[in-house]
Amino acid sequence: LKKKLIQLDQVIRELLPIVENEGLLHNIEVRFLLQKIPCPLIEADGELLKQVILNLCKNGIEAMGEGGVLTIRLSGLSESGFLSLEVEDQGPGIHPRAKEKIFDPFYTTKENGTGLGLPVCKRIIQDLRGEIRVLSGERGAIFQVLIPYHKV
Ligand code: ADP
Ligand code: MG
Repeated sequence: LKKKLIQLDQVIRELLPIVENEGLLHNIEVRFLLQKIPCPLIEADGELLKQVILNLCKNGIEAMGEGGVLTIRLSGLSESGFLSLEVEDQGPGIHPRAKEKIFDPFYTTKENGTGLGLPVCKRIIQDLRGEIRVLSGERGAIFQVLIPYHKV
């Protein structure tokens, strides 16, 4: 594990072309929204965070199938000391009864799924003393990741 002080917006920017390409293959537009203020530093392994974000984006794209918008939203939760990263899709969403199970290893509803994406995301985020949870969006699912940032 190589934790460094990094900026989450930079991590997302490096990953964005991969997600955009994945979206293009399925007619899905990828939007990246962020606050126009400098992103606070977090202490984390950027490569592991890319894995988390890519997992969430892939799930969102797979949930939509064909067409739609995938939104990646980055914001600082003012005063709370946490950065909020949201990945929102326009798929069918997640049934309230499935919301507990989706983070369990090997839970999958996909023919070729491993059910390991979300549990791995959870491990990585918990290791940062952060939190990952699923919310219901306007249309689909929103996965929200909270990461504590470095106060100077
Ligand atoms: P996998 O993608 O291999 O199935 P994951 O751990 O990434 O494993 O996801 C577990 C399950 O959670 C998925 O099979 C799916 O049922 C559900 N899920 C995850 N992300 C979404 C999403 N964005 N929309 C709807 N269901 C989702
Ligand atoms: Mg997955």
